[in-house]
Amino acid sequence: MFRNPACRVLLVEDDAGDASLVRQMLRANADPRFEIALAGTLAEMRERLSGATPDVLLLDLSLPDSQGLETIHAARRAANALPLIVLTGYDDTEFALKSLDAGAQDYLVKGAFNTDGLVRAIRYAIGRARLEQRVHDAEERWRFALEGSGDGVWDWSVPSGEVQFSQRWKEMIGYSEDEIGDKLDEWEKRIHPDDRARVKADVQAHFDGKTATYINEHRVCCKNGEWKWILDRGKVVSRDVAGKPLRMIGLHTDITERKHIEERIRHMAQHDTLTDLPNRALFSDRLQQALAVAKRDQLRLAVLYIDLDKFKPINDSLGHDVGDLMLKEVAQRMQACVRESDTVARIGGDEFVVLLRNVETPDDAVRVAEKIRFALNQPFDIAGRTLNISSSTGIAIYPDHGSNEIELSKNADMAMYTAKQSGRDNVKLFVSERDSMPGC
Ligand code: GH3
Ligand code: MG
Repeated sequence: MFRNPACRVLLVEDDAGDASLVRQMLRANADPRFEIALAGTLAEMRERLSGATPDVLLLDLSLPDSQGLETIHAARRAANALPLIVLTGYDDTEFALKSLDAGAQDYLVKGAFNTDGLVRAIRYAIGRARLEQRVHDAEERWRFALEGSGDGVWDWSVPSGEVQFSQRWKEMIGYSEDEIGDKLDEWEKRIHPDDRARVKADVQAHFDGKTATYINEHRVCCKNGEWKWILDRGKVVSRDVAGKPLRMIGLHTDITERKHIEERIRHMAQHDTLTDLPNRALFSDRLQQALAVAKRDQLRLAVLYIDLDKFKPINDSLGHDVGDLMLKEVAQRMQACVRESDTVARIGGDEFVVLLRNVETPDDAVRVAEKIRFALNQPFDIAGRTLNISSSTGIAIYPDHGSNEIELSKNADMAMYTAKQSGRDNVKLFVSERDSMPGC
C-alpha cells in the first residue's frame, strides 16, 4: 500500500532541549511522516536551504546570530515563498500578528502545543503558502498580460482613495514613474472638466450595481497639454458585507486615433466638402433645435435662401475650378456677415441657406440679408481675374411665415424665386397670399 511521501521539515532551533521535543512530537506522527533536518543558526539554515528544499520551516526567533522579527525577515529573504512557522517563548497576540505581517504563515508558543497542534499548524502553513503563491502567480500573470497588451492598468482601494497606476498608463499620458502619486485626485484632475461628471456618474452606477462593468470614454490631459481620449473599463472586485465597494480594478486604452477618425467621419457626413459649410442635414438639425428654443422662449428666427445670379455662365466660360474658388470665397463672405450662433449652409450648387436666431423684427433679417448681398457684390480676385457676381435672397420668419421647417423652407425658397423674377440682385421677404390681398 502506498503512503504519502514524507514531509521535510527544517527546524531552526539552537536550544537542544526544544529541538529534541519538536523532533519527538513529529516522529510520533505516522501520516504524514516527517523527515527532520536541524539548523542551530541562521547561517546554518541558509546553508541547508541551498541544498535540498524543505516543505516547511520551523523557526525559533532567538538564535545566536539573529533575534526577534528580524529572524523572520532574514528567513523570508533566504527561503522565498517557503511555508514558515514561528516558534517562540512569548505568548503575546501583538507579537504574533507582527510575525504574520513579517511573512510567517503561523505562530506557535513553546510549551503550549502538542503533536496534533504542531501537525495541524504545518498542514495549514503549507496549504496557506500554496494558496498565497497561486494568488501571487495569478496577479503576476494578469499584470504581465495587461502590461504587454499596451493598456494601462489601475487598481483602486476605494475607502482609502489610493490608486496604483501601471507604468504603461503613466507613459500613455507622458509622465515618468515617480511623477504621479497613488491618489485618486491625481487621476481626477487630469480628466477633462466637461467629462468629470459623466465619469463619476458611471462609476456610481457601477457601485450601485446598476451596471455589470464600468465603461466610460473621456479625455485626459497629457503632460504636454494635449488631450487624449481614453476608453476606461473597470469592475469592483471586492465589497464589504454591506455591499460597499472596497476594491476596483480596470484598464485604460488609448482611443485618441479612433475618436479623431470618428470625428472626421461625422464632420464629413455633416459638411459640404468644397466650402466646409454645414450641409442640408446639419442645417435641418440646427433649424429644428432653434425652432424648439424659439417656440419655448417665444422668439423670432429667420431662414434666408440665397442663390447666386448667373453663376452658370462664370462656370461655363472660366471653368469649374474658377467656379469652385468663387463658391469658397462666397461661403467665407457670408459667414463673416453673421454671428457665431447663426448658421450658414450650402444646400446645392450655388444655393446657400442661412439661419438667423433670435431676430427681433423681420427688418433685422432683411438688414442681415442686405449685408450679405452687399458683401457678395464686391469684386472677387480669383486666379488673377477680377470677377463680379450678385445674389437673390428670399426670407421667411418664424412664426410670421411658418411654424415648422418645411413651411419656412418652402416660403423662403418662394421669396427667393420672387427676387429672381424681380430682376435678381435683391432681397425679398416672404409675402403670404393673405398679406398680398388688396385691403389687407
Ligand atoms: P440663376 O441666376 O437663375 O440662379 O442662374 P445660374 O446661372 O446661377 O444657374 P443655377 O442657379 O440654375 O444653377 C447653378 C449652377 O451652379 C449650375 C452649375 O453650373 C453650377 N454648379 C453647381 N454645383 C457646382 C459646383 O460644385 N462647383 C461649381 N464650380 N459649379 C457648380
Ligand atoms: Mg444661381
